[in-house]
Amino acid sequence: MKAIVLLEHGGLEKLIYKENHPEPELREQDVLVRIHATTVNRIDFFVRGGYPGVKIQFPHIPGADIAGTVEEIGGNVERFRKGDRVLSWPLIACGACDLCLQGRRWLCGQWKYFGLHIDGSYAEYVSVPEESLIHLPKEISFDEAATLPVAGLTAYHAFVTVGRAQKGETILVWGGSGGLGTFSVQIAHLLGARVIATVGKDEKRKQLEGLGADLVLNHHTDDVMTAVRDFTRGYGVDMVLDSVGAETFPKGFQLLQKGGRLLLCGKLTGMDVSLSLHQTYLRHVSILGLYLGEKHELEELLVWLQEGKIRPVIERRFELKHASEAHRVMAAGEHVGKLVLIP
Ligand SMILES: [Zn+2]
Repeated sequence: MKAIVLLEHGGLEKLIYKENHPEPELREQDVLVRIHATTVNRIDFFVRGGYPGVKIQFPHIPGADIAGTVEEIGGNVERFRKGDRVLSWPLIACGACDLCLQGRRWLCGQWKYFGLHIDGSYAEYVSVPEESLIHLPKEISFDEAATLPVAGLTAYHAFVTVGRAQKGETILVWGGSGGLGTFSVQIAHLLGARVIATVGKDEKRKQLEGLGADLVLNHHTDDVMTAVRDFTRGYGVDMVLDSVGAETFPKGFQLLQKGGRLLLCGKLTGMDVSLSLHQTYLRHVSILGLYLGEKHELEELLVWLQEGKIRPVIERRFELKHASEAHRVMAAGEHVGKLVLIP
Protein backbone atom coordinates (compact mmCIF):
# COMPACT_ATOMS: atom_id res chain seq x y z
CA MET A 1 0.00 0.00 0.00
CA LYS A 2 0.94 3.66 -0.26
CA ALA A 3 2.31 5.07 3.00
CA ILE A 4 4.56 7.69 4.48
CA VAL A 5 7.10 5.80 6.54
CA LEU A 6 9.68 6.93 9.08
CA LEU A 7 12.80 4.77 9.28
CA GLU A 8 14.44 7.07 11.83
CA HIS A 9 13.80 10.40 13.56
CA GLY A 10 14.74 13.69 11.96
CA GLY A 11 13.66 16.47 9.61
CA LEU A 12 11.19 16.70 6.73
CA GLU A 13 13.31 14.40 4.58
CA LYS A 14 12.60 11.51 6.97
CA LEU A 15 8.98 11.34 5.77
CA ILE A 16 9.57 8.71 3.08
CA TYR A 17 6.86 7.89 0.55
CA LYS A 18 6.48 4.19 -0.27
CA GLU A 19 4.10 2.55 -2.73
CA ASN A 20 4.66 -1.03 -1.64
CA HIS A 21 4.55 -0.88 2.15
CA PRO A 22 2.94 -4.02 3.68
CA GLU A 23 -0.74 -3.68 4.57
CA PRO A 24 -1.60 -3.85 8.29
CA GLU A 25 -2.69 -7.16 9.77
CA LEU A 26 -6.36 -7.59 10.60
CA ARG A 27 -7.26 -9.19 13.94
CA GLU A 28 -10.69 -10.64 14.75
CA GLN A 29 -11.91 -7.43 16.40
CA ASP A 30 -10.45 -5.09 13.75
CA VAL A 31 -11.79 -3.21 10.79
CA LEU A 32 -9.48 -2.52 7.86
CA VAL A 33 -10.17 1.08 6.90
CA ARG A 34 -9.32 2.50 3.50
CA ILE A 35 -8.29 6.06 4.37
CA HIS A 36 -9.83 8.80 2.20
CA ALA A 37 -8.44 11.72 4.21
CA THR A 38 -6.15 12.44 7.12
CA THR A 39 -4.60 15.67 8.44
CA VAL A 40 -1.34 16.95 9.84
CA ASN A 41 -1.19 17.58 13.59
CA ARG A 42 1.56 19.01 15.77
CA ILE A 43 2.08 15.64 17.37
CA ASP A 44 3.21 14.33 13.97
CA PHE A 45 6.16 16.74 14.21
CA PHE A 46 7.13 15.29 17.57
CA VAL A 47 6.77 11.74 16.29
CA ARG A 48 9.00 12.62 13.33
CA GLY A 49 11.59 14.35 15.50
CA GLY A 50 11.38 12.01 18.51
CA TYR A 51 8.67 12.09 21.18
CA PRO A 52 9.91 12.45 24.79
CA GLY A 53 9.37 9.24 26.72
CA VAL A 54 8.03 7.19 23.78
CA LYS A 55 10.21 4.72 21.91
CA ILE A 56 9.01 4.54 18.32
CA GLN A 57 9.37 1.19 16.54
CA PHE A 58 10.63 1.68 12.98
CA PRO A 59 9.42 1.51 10.28
CA HIS A 60 6.65 3.73 11.59
CA ILE A 61 3.64 5.41 9.95
CA PRO A 62 2.64 8.73 11.59
CA GLY A 63 -0.82 10.35 11.67
CA ALA A 64 -3.88 10.10 13.92
CA ASP A 65 -6.89 11.35 11.92
CA ILE A 66 -8.66 8.49 10.17
CA ALA A 67 -11.64 9.08 7.86
CA GLY A 68 -12.52 6.53 5.21
CA THR A 69 -14.47 3.44 4.25
CA VAL A 70 -14.50 -0.13 5.51
CA GLU A 71 -12.44 -2.38 3.24
CA GLU A 72 -12.57 -5.59 5.25
CA ILE A 73 -13.76 -6.76 8.68
CA GLY A 74 -12.39 -9.25 11.21
CA GLY A 75 -14.46 -12.27 12.29
CA ASN A 76 -15.80 -10.69 15.48
CA VAL A 77 -16.84 -7.33 14.04
CA GLU A 78 -20.58 -6.69 14.34
CA ARG A 79 -21.39 -3.01 13.76
CA PHE A 80 -19.63 -2.45 10.42
CA ARG A 81 -19.82 -3.83 6.88
CA LYS A 82 -17.63 -3.40 3.81
CA GLY A 83 -18.20 0.00 2.23
CA ASP A 84 -19.44 1.76 5.41
CA ARG A 85 -18.19 5.32 5.86
CA VAL A 86 -16.26 5.62 9.12
CA LEU A 87 -14.38 8.02 11.36
CA SER A 88 -12.02 6.81 14.07
CA TRP A 89 -11.48 8.03 17.61
CA PRO A 90 -7.67 8.50 17.59
CA LEU A 91 -7.08 6.14 20.53
CA ILE A 92 -7.34 2.50 21.44
CA ALA A 93 -8.11 1.88 25.14
CA CYS A 94 -7.75 -1.41 27.03
CA GLY A 95 -11.31 -1.34 28.36
CA ALA A 96 -10.26 -3.10 31.56
CA CYS A 97 -8.18 -0.71 33.67
CA ASP A 98 -9.56 1.44 36.49
CA LEU A 99 -9.91 4.57 34.33
CA CYS A 100 -11.49 2.69 31.41
CA LEU A 101 -14.03 1.13 33.79
CA GLN A 102 -14.83 4.62 35.10
CA GLY A 103 -15.67 5.67 31.54
CA ARG A 104 -12.55 7.78 31.12
CA ARG A 105 -10.97 5.70 28.40
CA TRP A 106 -8.88 8.50 26.91
CA LEU A 107 -6.85 8.37 30.14
CA CYS A 108 -6.27 4.60 29.84
CA GLY A 109 -2.85 3.57 31.15
CA GLN A 110 -2.41 1.12 28.27
CA TRP A 111 -3.61 3.67 25.68
CA LYS A 112 -2.45 3.48 22.13
CA TYR A 113 -2.48 6.67 20.07
CA PHE A 114 -2.56 6.17 16.30
CA GLY A 115 0.65 7.43 14.73
CA LEU A 116 2.46 7.54 18.08
CA HIS A 117 2.37 4.13 19.79
CA ILE A 118 1.14 2.26 16.71
CA ASP A 119 1.06 2.82 12.95
CA GLY A 120 -1.16 5.71 11.95
CA SER A 121 -3.04 7.36 9.13
CA TYR A 122 -0.43 8.57 6.62
CA ALA A 123 -1.29 5.50 4.56
CA GLU A 124 -3.80 3.90 2.24
CA TYR A 125 -5.02 1.46 4.92
CA VAL A 126 -5.07 1.25 8.70
CA SER A 127 -6.37 -1.45 10.99
CA VAL A 128 -8.72 -0.09 13.71
CA PRO A 129 -10.51 -2.00 16.49
CA GLU A 130 -14.29 -1.82 16.00
CA GLU A 131 -14.54 -0.23 19.45
CA SER A 132 -12.77 2.95 18.27
CA LEU A 133 -14.87 3.47 15.13
CA ILE A 134 -17.87 5.72 14.51
CA HIS A 135 -20.26 5.62 11.55
CA LEU A 136 -19.76 8.73 9.42
CA PRO A 137 -22.96 10.31 8.03
CA LYS A 138 -22.93 10.60 4.24
CA GLU A 139 -23.43 14.37 4.21
CA ILE A 140 -20.08 14.95 5.92
CA SER A 141 -17.08 14.88 3.60
CA PHE A 142 -14.03 12.78 4.44
CA ASP A 143 -11.90 15.96 4.41
CA GLU A 144 -14.06 17.69 7.00
CA ALA A 145 -14.42 14.57 9.13
CA ALA A 146 -10.65 14.07 9.19
CA THR A 147 -10.17 17.43 10.92
CA LEU A 148 -12.16 16.32 13.98
CA PRO A 149 -10.45 13.43 15.83
CA VAL A 150 -7.43 15.36 17.09
CA ALA A 151 -7.86 19.13 16.66
CA GLY A 152 -11.65 19.29 16.93
CA LEU A 153 -11.91 16.81 19.79
CA THR A 154 -9.20 18.57 21.83
CA ALA A 155 -10.98 21.93 21.52
CA TYR A 156 -14.35 20.36 22.40
CA HIS A 157 -12.93 18.49 25.38
CA ALA A 158 -11.14 21.64 26.57
CA PHE A 159 -14.11 24.00 26.63
CA VAL A 160 -17.10 21.69 27.09
CA THR A 161 -15.78 19.04 29.47
CA VAL A 162 -12.66 20.35 31.22
CA GLY A 163 -13.03 24.14 31.27
CA ARG A 164 -16.87 24.17 31.26
CA ALA A 165 -17.02 27.50 29.48
CA GLN A 166 -19.96 29.63 30.53
CA LYS A 167 -21.95 32.22 28.66
CA GLY A 168 -20.51 35.69 29.18
CA GLU A 169 -17.02 34.51 30.16
CA THR A 170 -13.96 35.80 28.35
CA ILE A 171 -11.58 33.24 26.89
CA LEU A 172 -8.10 33.80 25.51
CA VAL A 173 -6.82 31.36 22.87
CA TRP A 174 -3.07 31.54 22.25
CA GLY A 175 -2.37 30.70 18.61
CA GLY A 176 -5.90 30.93 17.24
CA SER A 177 -5.18 30.27 13.58
CA GLY A 178 -4.10 26.62 13.50
CA GLY A 179 -6.32 23.55 13.51
CA LEU A 180 -6.84 23.55 17.27
CA GLY A 181 -7.13 27.35 17.30
CA THR A 182 -9.81 27.63 14.62
CA PHE A 183 -11.95 25.00 16.37
CA SER A 184 -11.32 26.63 19.76
CA VAL A 185 -12.45 30.07 18.61
CA GLN A 186 -15.64 28.62 17.09
CA ILE A 187 -16.49 26.43 20.07
CA ALA A 188 -15.82 29.13 22.69
CA HIS A 189 -17.98 31.52 20.65
CA LEU A 190 -20.71 28.90 20.27
CA LEU A 191 -20.79 28.42 24.06
CA GLY A 192 -21.45 32.13 24.47
CA ALA A 193 -18.00 33.31 25.56
CA ARG A 194 -16.24 36.44 24.38
CA VAL A 195 -13.17 35.23 22.54
CA ILE A 196 -9.73 36.77 22.29
CA ALA A 197 -7.37 34.99 19.91
CA THR A 198 -3.77 35.61 18.95
CA VAL A 199 -2.20 35.15 15.52
CA GLY A 200 1.32 35.49 14.16
CA LYS A 201 0.41 37.24 10.90
CA ASP A 202 -1.89 40.25 10.40
CA GLU A 203 -3.55 38.79 7.31
CA LYS A 204 -5.09 36.08 9.49
CA ARG A 205 -7.06 38.53 11.64
CA LYS A 206 -10.13 38.81 9.37
CA GLN A 207 -10.55 35.06 9.08
CA LEU A 208 -10.53 34.62 12.85
CA GLU A 209 -13.07 37.40 13.31
CA GLY A 210 -15.22 35.51 10.81
CA LEU A 211 -15.06 32.43 13.05
CA GLY A 212 -16.34 34.38 16.05
CA ALA A 213 -13.30 36.00 17.66
CA ASP A 214 -14.21 39.32 19.33
CA LEU A 215 -10.62 40.52 19.51
CA VAL A 216 -7.67 39.27 17.46
CA LEU A 217 -4.15 40.25 18.47
CA ASN A 218 -0.83 39.74 16.71
CA HIS A 219 1.39 38.10 19.33
CA HIS A 220 4.51 39.40 17.55
CA THR A 221 3.55 43.06 17.18
CA ASP A 222 0.73 43.83 19.63
CA ASP A 223 1.14 44.33 23.37
CA VAL A 224 -1.07 41.37 24.23
CA MET A 225 -0.93 41.93 28.00
CA THR A 226 -2.17 45.53 27.77
CA ALA A 227 -4.71 44.83 25.04
CA VAL A 228 -6.29 41.95 26.99
CA ARG A 229 -6.44 44.01 30.18
CA ASP A 230 -8.04 46.90 28.29
CA PHE A 231 -10.55 44.61 26.60
CA THR A 232 -11.57 43.13 29.96
CA ARG A 233 -11.71 46.53 31.76
CA GLY A 234 -8.68 45.51 33.78
CA TYR A 235 -10.20 42.31 35.17
CA GLY A 236 -8.44 39.75 33.00
CA VAL A 237 -9.90 36.65 31.38
CA ASP A 238 -11.83 33.68 32.82
CA MET A 239 -10.07 31.05 30.82
CA VAL A 240 -6.92 30.63 28.74
CA LEU A 241 -6.25 27.84 26.26
CA ASP A 242 -2.53 27.35 25.86
CA SER A 243 -1.00 24.89 23.41
CA VAL A 244 2.18 26.95 23.02
CA GLY A 245 3.86 26.16 26.33
CA ALA A 246 6.62 27.86 28.28
CA GLU A 247 6.57 31.10 26.27
CA THR A 248 2.89 31.89 26.83
CA PHE A 249 2.03 30.04 30.05
CA PRO A 250 3.30 32.72 32.49
CA LYS A 251 1.53 35.46 30.52
CA GLY A 252 -1.73 33.53 30.48
CA PHE A 253 -1.37 32.91 34.19
CA GLN A 254 -0.99 36.64 34.84
CA LEU A 255 -3.96 37.47 32.62
CA LEU A 256 -6.41 35.25 34.52
CA GLN A 257 -8.89 37.00 36.73
CA LYS A 258 -9.86 35.49 40.08
CA GLY A 259 -11.42 32.06 39.70
CA GLY A 260 -9.81 31.65 36.27
CA ARG A 261 -8.82 28.41 34.58
CA LEU A 262 -5.65 27.83 32.61
CA LEU A 263 -6.06 24.96 30.15
CA LEU A 264 -2.82 23.48 28.86
CA CYS A 265 -2.58 21.06 25.94
CA GLY A 266 0.82 21.63 24.34
CA LYS A 267 4.44 22.47 24.91
CA LEU A 268 5.83 23.76 21.61
CA THR A 269 8.07 26.35 23.23
CA GLY A 270 9.34 24.38 26.18
CA MET A 271 8.20 22.41 29.20
CA ASP A 272 9.45 24.31 32.26
CA VAL A 273 8.06 27.46 33.84
CA SER A 274 7.97 28.87 37.35
CA LEU A 275 4.82 30.31 38.80
CA SER A 276 3.70 31.72 42.13
CA LEU A 277 1.96 29.20 44.38
CA HIS A 278 0.82 32.18 46.42
CA GLN A 279 -0.94 33.74 43.42
CA THR A 280 -2.39 30.35 42.45
CA TYR A 281 -4.42 29.94 45.62
CA LEU A 282 -4.90 33.63 46.36
CA ARG A 283 -6.53 34.13 42.96
CA HIS A 284 -8.29 30.74 43.00
CA VAL A 285 -6.60 29.70 39.76
CA SER A 286 -7.11 26.21 38.31
CA ILE A 287 -4.45 24.73 36.06
CA LEU A 288 -5.95 21.98 33.95
CA GLY A 289 -3.90 19.76 31.65
CA LEU A 290 -5.59 17.85 28.87
CA TYR A 291 -5.25 16.04 25.57
CA LEU A 292 -7.90 14.70 23.17
CA GLY A 293 -11.08 13.41 24.85
CA GLU A 294 -13.60 10.55 25.05
CA LYS A 295 -15.16 8.94 21.97
CA HIS A 296 -18.68 10.19 22.77
CA GLU A 297 -17.32 13.76 22.67
CA LEU A 298 -16.14 13.14 19.10
CA GLU A 299 -19.66 11.89 18.28
CA GLU A 300 -21.17 15.05 19.81
CA LEU A 301 -18.80 17.18 17.78
CA LEU A 302 -19.86 15.32 14.64
CA VAL A 303 -23.49 16.27 15.42
CA TRP A 304 -22.43 19.93 15.77
CA LEU A 305 -20.82 19.68 12.34
CA GLN A 306 -23.98 18.13 10.86
CA GLU A 307 -26.07 20.89 12.41
CA GLY A 308 -23.78 23.54 10.95
CA LYS A 309 -22.73 24.88 14.37
CA ILE A 310 -19.06 24.50 13.52
CA ARG A 311 -17.25 24.34 10.22
CA PRO A 312 -13.77 22.92 9.82
CA VAL A 313 -11.34 25.38 8.26
CA ILE A 314 -9.24 23.62 5.62
CA GLU A 315 -6.35 25.61 4.21
CA ARG A 316 -5.05 23.14 1.64
CA ARG A 317 -5.15 19.55 0.48
CA PHE A 318 -2.01 17.62 -0.37
CA GLU A 319 -1.48 14.26 -1.98
CA LEU A 320 -0.10 11.88 0.62
CA LYS A 321 3.26 11.73 -1.13
CA HIS A 322 3.66 15.48 -0.45
CA ALA A 323 3.35 15.07 3.34
CA SER A 324 6.76 16.66 3.89
CA GLU A 325 5.59 19.81 2.07
CA ALA A 326 2.52 19.90 4.32
CA HIS A 327 4.80 19.64 7.36
CA ARG A 328 6.90 22.51 6.00
CA VAL A 329 3.85 24.75 5.46
CA MET A 330 2.59 24.02 8.97
CA ALA A 331 5.98 24.63 10.59
CA ALA A 332 6.23 27.96 8.76
CA GLY A 333 2.83 29.02 10.10
CA GLU A 334 1.66 29.88 6.59
CA HIS A 335 -1.76 28.30 7.07
CA VAL A 336 -5.11 28.98 8.74
CA GLY A 337 -6.90 25.85 9.92
CA LYS A 338 -6.08 22.33 8.82
CA LEU A 339 -3.84 20.77 6.19
CA VAL A 340 -5.44 17.65 4.73
CA LEU A 341 -3.55 14.71 3.23
CA ILE A 342 -5.26 12.52 0.64
CA PRO A 343 -3.83 8.99 0.28
ZN1 LIG B 1 -7.66 1.09 30.07
